[in-house]
Amino acid sequence: MGKLMRWLGRTFGDKTKRCPEEEHCLELVRLMLDDESTQEDNDYVLKHIDGCYQCYDNYDVERAIREVVQKKGKNVKLPVEVVTEIRQKIEVAK
Ligand SMILES: [Zn+2]
Repeated sequence: MGKLMRWLGRTFGDKTKRCPEEEHCLELVRLMLDDESTQEDNDYVLKHIDGCYQCYDNYDVERAIREVVQKKGKNVKLPVEVVTEIRQKIEVAK
């Protein structure tokens, strides 16, 4: 999904309509980013976030969190405030 389509979805999409797959998808996203997923999981996630801006946002956040953790070193547990900060930064960047 292109950036424009994501922006359109975010701006004009029905915000009250939650993705029915969101929780399941987020779980698979985490597995994928942690290299614990199967090829099947990856296919599902990539296909799904391509058409679901809500889950794409989750994917963005999860990926950003992992980047920070990697920079800070492994086994770092991020405090909630840091996670919130990352989320806000992503929101602003949009
Ligand atoms: Zn979704």
